[in-house]
Amino acid sequence: MESTCPSCELLISQQRHHPYLVNISTLQDSQLYKCRCCNSYLHCYLQQWEIISIGYYDERQSPLTPSTDSKNRTMSFANSLALHLATNSR
Ligand SMILES: [Zn+2]
Repeated sequence: MESTCPSCELLISQQRHHPYLVNISTLQDSQLYKCRCCNSYLHCYLQQWEIISIGYYDERQSPLTPSTDSKNRTMSFANSLALHLATNSR
């Protein structure tokens, strides 16, 4: 059965951005996101959100997993950026 996660439901009802959104495409006034929690595709146009494609949300899945993953990825990006800057300053 197709369903959205609680974060996406809040996004549609309260226009609230949430941390599971992955930006896929950005145009002038329009952004396309995919939710890593329920795999829905969402479109934001002039601050208005709509669901393009409803994904599948399994309530047994831990919503903490994508968040931890994203944190690690940000950390490694920050580390490689710091390394890059350190190399260039020599
Ligand atoms: Zn979602």
